[in-house]
Amino acid sequence: MLRFALGLNAGDQQQGSAGIRPLIAGNWKMNGISASLANVREIGMKTEPIADAVDVIVFPPATLLESAAAVGLPYRIAIGGQDCSSETDGAFTGELSAEMLSDAGATFALLGHSERRRRHCETDENIRQKAIRAIDANLKAVICVGESLDEKAAGDTLTVLSKQILHAVPRTVNSSDLVIAYEPVWAIGTGRRPEDQEISEAHAHIRGQMEAVWGEGGRQIPILYGGSVDSKNAKTILRLPNVNGLLIGAASLDAAHFSAICSDAAGLASANLSI
Ligand code: PEP
Repeated sequence: MLRFALGLNAGDQQQGSAGIRPLIAGNWKMNGISASLANVREIGMKTEPIADAVDVIVFPPATLLESAAAVGLPYRIAIGGQDCSSETDGAFTGELSAEMLSDAGATFALLGHSERRRRHCETDENIRQKAIRAIDANLKAVICVGESLDEKAAGDTLTVLSKQILHAVPRTVNSSDLVIAYEPVWAIGTGRRPEDQEISEAHAHIRGQMEAVWGEGGRQIPILYGGSVDSKNAKTILRLPNVNGLLIGAASLDAAHFSAICSDAAGLASANLSI
């Protein structure tokens, strides 16, 4: 029987994230109207032949969740909400509960994105509560962590990641309901990204934290890199140890670029197929 022997690279075998299928996620942020559903369809048509080798998620704006889920379904494109409330229901004007996302066809929730942490003053504790709500509503929680430029300059990257993980990632949930996205704040939308070695160090550190809590299950939690990924640098990043996929902002708005990155991920995964 064919199975994935490795993550995306031999380094993962040594460092322990064997068997994780690459996951490529597009965060559309506050972009997209009904005409943009054509992008979901185009991504679907382009990634259909590789749907066994890569998991594709699109995080559209909330107004498009239900229709994007319907368009994406035949192509196995998963849809996620870009946030969810830390409450289940009630007098929270403008908020969307995890159950509402799920009801609209979402299967993932993106939580703790730095834009929400900054603009909406979200704390790690809020994010943990949201993750619990999301998982209770049968969504997988994609929890974002990452250091600011000042924290990086102070040499505090790994300390910041430890602290965010400790407080934002719920420990009482199943590891199979979690995805971690390492997104250095200073790399989002700037065209700048960490050195390969720095990404490897951050991902190894996150992997260690996951294993410390979930043991073997922690080795299977996908750890995505996000921050100025494009179709030129995606392959290089995907080859790094413990990088199990990508969270992509701007480049995900272009269906051709996004699909090309999905194909790169599938190609790298297939190169590691073993009997
Ligand atoms: C993001 O918003 O999660 C992101 C990674 O954005 P970009 O790819 O544009 O840097």
